[in-house]
Amino acid sequence: MAIISSKKQPPEPNGQPKQRRESVKTPPDDKILQPEAAIDEQGKQEESIRPQRFADYIGQKDLKDVLDIAIKAAKSRGEVLDHLLLYGPPGLGKTTMAMILASEMGVSCKITSAPALERPRDIVGLLVNLKPGDILFVDEIHRLSRMTEEILYPAMEDYRLDITIGKGSSARMRSLPLSKFTLVGATTRVGALTSPLRDRFGLIQKLRFYEVPELSKIVLRSAQLLQTPITDNGATEIAKRSRGTPRIANRLLKRVRDYAEVKVCAEIDETVASEALQLFQVDPCGLDWTDRRMLSVIIEQFNGGPVGLETIAAATGEDTQTIEEVYEPYLMQIGYLSRTPRGRTATKAAYKHLGFIPPNEQLSLLP
Ligand code: ADP
Repeated sequence: MAIISSKKQPPEPNGQPKQRRESVKTPPDDKILQPEAAIDEQGKQEESIRPQRFADYIGQKDLKDVLDIAIKAAKSRGEVLDHLLLYGPPGLGKTTMAMILASEMGVSCKITSAPALERPRDIVGLLVNLKPGDILFVDEIHRLSRMTEEILYPAMEDYRLDITIGKGSSARMRSLPLSKFTLVGATTRVGALTSPLRDRFGLIQKLRFYEVPELSKIVLRSAQLLQTPITDNGATEIAKRSRGTPRIANRLLKRVRDYAEVKVCAEIDETVASEALQLFQVDPCGLDWTDRRMLSVIIEQFNGGPVGLETIAAATGEDTQTIEEVYEPYLMQIGYLSRTPRGRTATKAAYKHLGFIPPNEQLSLLP
């Protein structure tokens, strides 16, 4: 018996077929659901809602437990914290955690990222200016150049800077002592780190996506700091559409706040939040155009998969790295996509979310 290919299922599960189909067809310009920080988010307002203390850092209990012990042990021995590698998708709180560690340890945190450390002198300049105990935060650490990485090895291991003076046969190596410091590296691709660099971190910790109740707390806290009245249900509505990511939750809150102000709503409740987010084309599960396009290509053109990463990239216009680092982790987390050795497949939940009949249920609909 032939299995009919992905038919649309009438009626649509959440009663909004038209809007969902259209949103798969037209890519919006807006990157409202992108977990990377937008330029305008690196300003004052973003900083004003960034948690400053451990107590304000919501969720990530395992990470906090490990770091709490590391801080207490380092303080009691009067030592610096071990080098720490934080990995996980963007927007989950890696930079925030580095800044909190510095404030808990009573030291400064210097923030940089691998692309800004192209020349050896960039990293040398930072290292020699570190004070005892300081934290050096290097974002996207998997992108360090080989020379910069080689300068970091003795710096991390022995707090020593090895520099070569002169060229050719007259070249000599000189070592300079550095202050004891803590390197906090952040990456979205832990597998792309070289093993000599990875091995020099005493602590390697993964950040996971946040649960809805944790994101609701983050939204409530940010709303309070932004002096925006919001109900618990309003916060939950925003949390549900935030892709498990605090940066997105805060961004959606600001959009909903604008909407509530323009519509003269006294507070953000569930209805205001859902109306506003519908207007911004944010799906009830937080999926954006690319997510929906990825899933619909797998379902409609490849009978649910498996489909290779390159094919998905071509169909969505995104590069393979962004798909692997930004889109797939969340789709897998919510159980809409699975990775198999032969490619990506859409799950039953994905079929239902997009209004398709899952293959094993299609048989029962045949006459
Ligand atoms: P990353 O470095 O992983 O890309 P950030 O640390 O810059 O992410 O976090 C992005 C924003 O999300 C921060 O400005 C902060 O306000 C918020 N945030 C992140 N983690 C938390 C958390 N655990 N609790 C509250 N807010 C958080």
